[in-house]
Amino acid sequence: ATPVALMVATGRGAECGILVRRGAALERLAEIDTVVFDKTGTLTAGRPALVASSWSAPGEAQQWLLRVAALEKASEHPIAGALLAAVGEVPLPATEAVEPVPGGGIRGRVEGVRLAVGSRRFVDTETGARAPEPLLEAWAEAQASEGRTLVWVVAEGVPVGVMAFADPLKPTSAAAVTELHALGLRVALLSGDSRRSVEAVARSLAIEEVRAEVRPEEKAEVLRQWQAQGRRLAFVGDGINDAPALAQADVGIAMGTGTDVAIETGDVVLMRGDPAAVPQAVRLARATRRTIR
Ligand code: ADP
Ligand code: MG
Repeated sequence: ATPVALMVATGRGAECGILVRRGAALERLAEIDTVVFDKTGTLTAGRPALVASSWSAPGEAQQWLLRVAALEKASEHPIAGALLAAVGEVPLPATEAVEPVPGGGIRGRVEGVRLAVGSRRFVDTETGARAPEPLLEAWAEAQASEGRTLVWVVAEGVPVGVMAFADPLKPTSAAAVTELHALGLRVALLSGDSRRSVEAVARSLAIEEVRAEVRPEEKAEVLRQWQAQGRRLAFVGDGINDAPALAQADVGIAMGTGTDVAIETGDVVLMRGDPAAVPQAVRLARATRRTIR
């Protein structure tokens, strides 16, 4: 590779908010066959809002929301922020032994009651996979089919409610996927969220490949498996959880709006957090390769 061609490409990238931190990554980016996206904060705005909730004792909805919000004060997950925003500036009940579990949820005691709040997979370990009431389950499935993220609430091992959060897509996500397809690339979606929710989001964006319910430490492993099949991958992500996958991918692309750890791990940083910059970066990489040869 000629250093001059790479310098020119790096300069051109910077003009459109594409920061190339490692020149060699640009060469690899010209050779990828698949772009793997993280969902939350990458293709979605990453600012979920509580849209609805369903409880086995409907009269107690507000009380449960306050208890859950009290627990979530200890979490930095966007879901926690959404809950605190939903309950507003009110006094929250006292908590004890609160323990956030990255990629799963949070547990602790509120007013002496043992609570677990999080993904189905996470709360299943608290309930011994005891099925929620059929009404709750049906409500949850309908919400997930709309692409909403479900967060279950379990008290003393019993599912008592489920909350649905909506996280709007970024305005350019669909166009980015269309363009990547036009460049001949496959597009995949990798998320810790539940299968049904992730599939709904993938369908709305015309993404053909989905891996859902992936724990943070498993994201890099999924990429490793695909690479073992000979695939060359770019991974696009924003979270602390995404750092191992960003490092594992042939090209790690970090959202500049994401966490510091992700940004430091990325080979390429999209300063504006705009998914449309991904196909732009691929085109830049391909044009640079032609210059070099
Ligand atoms: P994503 O891959 O969508 O960014 P995470 O890996 O951070 O999601 O979390 C996976 C799932 O675990 C979330 O969709 C949510 O259901 C649940 N979860 C994680 N942290 C929390 C929390 N603090 N409160 C409630 N649910 C949580
Ligand atoms: Mg994310």
